[in-house]
Amino acid sequence: MAAALGEFLSSPPAGIPAEVFEAFGRTVKTDDGILPPCVFIEAVEQSSVAISITDTNAKILYANQAFEKLTGYKPEDVVGKNQSILSYKVTPIKVYQDLWAHLLDKVSWNGVLINKRKDGQRYLADLTVAPVLDQNGQTIYYLALHRDVTEVHELERKVRNQKVLIESVVDAAPVVMALLNNEGKVLLDNQDYKKLMGDLRGVEPANFFLESLSEVIEYDRKLPCDQRKGFINREIGLKNSQGIESRWFNCSGVWVNEKNITADNYFTDTDECCLLLAANEITQQKRQQNQIKTNAMRALMAEQQLVHGMRETLSGAIYQLQAPLNMASAVVSMMERRQGKNNDVNAFQSALMEVIRSGEQVLESLQQSLPPEDREAVALVNMNEVIKDVIDLSIHRLLEKSVLVDWEPESELPYINGRCYALRTLFKQLLDNAIDAIDEPGCTRREIYIQTLHVDDAVEVVIRDTGPGIPLNKRHSVFEPFYSDWQHIKGRPGMGLTIAMEMVQKHYGTIEIDPHYHTGCSIRIRLPINPSEFLGQEES
Ligand code: FAD
Repeated sequence: MAAALGEFLSSPPAGIPAEVFEAFGRTVKTDDGILPPCVFIEAVEQSSVAISITDTNAKILYANQAFEKLTGYKPEDVVGKNQSILSYKVTPIKVYQDLWAHLLDKVSWNGVLINKRKDGQRYLADLTVAPVLDQNGQTIYYLALHRDVTEVHELERKVRNQKVLIESVVDAAPVVMALLNNEGKVLLDNQDYKKLMGDLRGVEPANFFLESLSEVIEYDRKLPCDQRKGFINREIGLKNSQGIESRWFNCSGVWVNEKNITADNYFTDTDECCLLLAANEITQQKRQQNQIKTNAMRALMAEQQLVHGMRETLSGAIYQLQAPLNMASAVVSMMERRQGKNNDVNAFQSALMEVIRSGEQVLESLQQSLPPEDREAVALVNMNEVIKDVIDLSIHRLLEKSVLVDWEPESELPYINGRCYALRTLFKQLLDNAIDAIDEPGCTRREIYIQTLHVDDAVEVVIRDTGPGIPLNKRHSVFEPFYSDWQHIKGRPGMGLTIAMEMVQKHYGTIEIDPHYHTGCSIRIRLPINPSEFLGQEES
C-alpha cells in the first residue's frame, strides 16, 4: 500500500520543492519491507535521463542533474521559469497545441521539439510529458523526460538519404535489378523490374530468373555468403505463351551480406545472404544476331540448293541415259548368244557396242562431274531450333502466301545426334512442300501445323498441311525420283521427297505419310536420339 512521503519525512531534502516532495513522496511496500521515499528522490536526482517537473502552466519546479547536463541550465537558472525557455522558437505551433491538448485531456504526450541549450546550441529533444494527478484526479504537476536525439535523427536521415539515393540510382539504371533473399523473395527492385513484371502480367520476374538460372545459383543455405559464387553474363531466354523464347536477358548475380536486424540476433550478429540480380535485356541484339544467322543460313541453303539442283539434274540425266544403255547392252548380249554369221548383224552389233561404249563414257564423265556430297560432322542437334530456323528461313514465303503456322514445340526435347545442315535442308524441303500444297487449286484453309515430340528414344516431327493431301495409291510413288504431281507448278524435277527420304535414312530414322489424316497431308518423321550406327563416327 502506498503512503504519502510526508508520512515518513517531515521536510523535503535540499533542492526538492515542498509541493514536489509532497506529491511524489510516496512509499512503496514490498515483500522485503518499505522503500523509503528518499530512494525515489535520489533515483530521480541521479537518473541519467533529464527530468523536470512543472506546475500546470509549465513553470519549472524541479530539474535533475541530467537536465543540467543536457541543457546547460542549473536548477537555479530555470526553477520558476517556463519550459519555453528551452524553445528554439522554430517548432511549429501545432506541435505545442498537440502537446497541450493531450495534457489538458490528462493524457501523456511524446514528441520531438527543437530546443536550445543555455549556450544557444540547438538540439532535438525527444520529450515525454506526463500529467501527475492528485487523489481527486486533478492535474497538479507535469513530469517531463528529455532525451537528446540529434545524433539519432541525423543517422536516421543519413540512412534515409542513402536509401533514396541508392533507390534512385538503381531505378535509373537501364537494367532489371532485384535484391532477393534466401527464399527468393524480392526485398528491393527497380523501375525496369516493375516494368518487366507489368509485361509479364503481374508474374514475379524473379521466379523466371531463378528457374532459368537454377544451375548457376548456389542456393545452399548452409553455405556462408562469402563462399557462394556469383555469376556473370548468363544468357537466358524468356518464353512466350507458345513456349518460344521471345525475350533475352544477360544476367549477372552477386551475393551480398545483410545483417540480421531482428532483436533475437542482437548479440549473435548473424548475416542473411541476399542475391543481387541484374539482368540486361538483349532482345534487340539477339534479334539482330538471329537475323544475321538466318541470312547466313539462307545463303548457305541457297548454295546447297544449287549443288542439290546440279546433283538432281545430273542424277536425272544419268538415270535417263542408263535406261537406253541398259537396253542396248541387253540387245548386244542377246545377239552374242545367237552368234549369227550374218555380216549385217555383226556390223549392227559392233555399231551398237560402239554406241554403248560412248554412252558409258558420257555416263562416266557425268558421274565425275557430280558435285561431291557434303560430309557434315555428326553433332548434338536441338530439333526445336532446327524447326525454328526453318520457319525463320521461310517466313517471307509464309507471309507472302498468307499461310498460318501453328508451331507446337515439345518443351523438354532431348538433343539428337545428327547433321544439323542436312536436317535443316530436310525440314525446309518438307515445309516448302507444305506451302506448295496449300497453293494447289481448291484449298480453302491455309494452315500448317508443326509439332515436335519426344517419343521413347526418338524425336518425332509432324508437319501437317491443309492442302489436297496425297492419295493412298500415290503414297509410295511420291518418294521415288523424278515424281512430281503438282497441279500448279510445272517443271520441278520431283526429287524433293526422294532427297528428304535419303536424309532421314542417313539419320537411321523413318518418314511416313499418316494414313489416317484426310484433311491434307500429315508427314511424321522419326529420328532416333542416339542411333548406334553413329557410334564411332566423328562427333563435334
Ligand atoms: P505558448 O503560448 O506558451 O504556447 C503555444 C501554444 O501552446 C498556445 O497557443 C496554446 O495553444 C498552448 N498552450 C501553452 N500553454 C498552455 C497551457 N498552460 N494550457 C493550455 N494550452 C497551452 N516547450 C519547448 O519548446 N521545449 C521544451 O522542452 C518544453 N518542455 C515542456 C515540458 C513540460 C512539462 C510542459 C508542460 C511544456 C513544455 N514545453 C516545452 C511547452 C512550453 O511550455 C510552451 O508551450 C512552448 O515552449 C511554446 O511556448 P511559446 O511561448 O512559444 O508559446
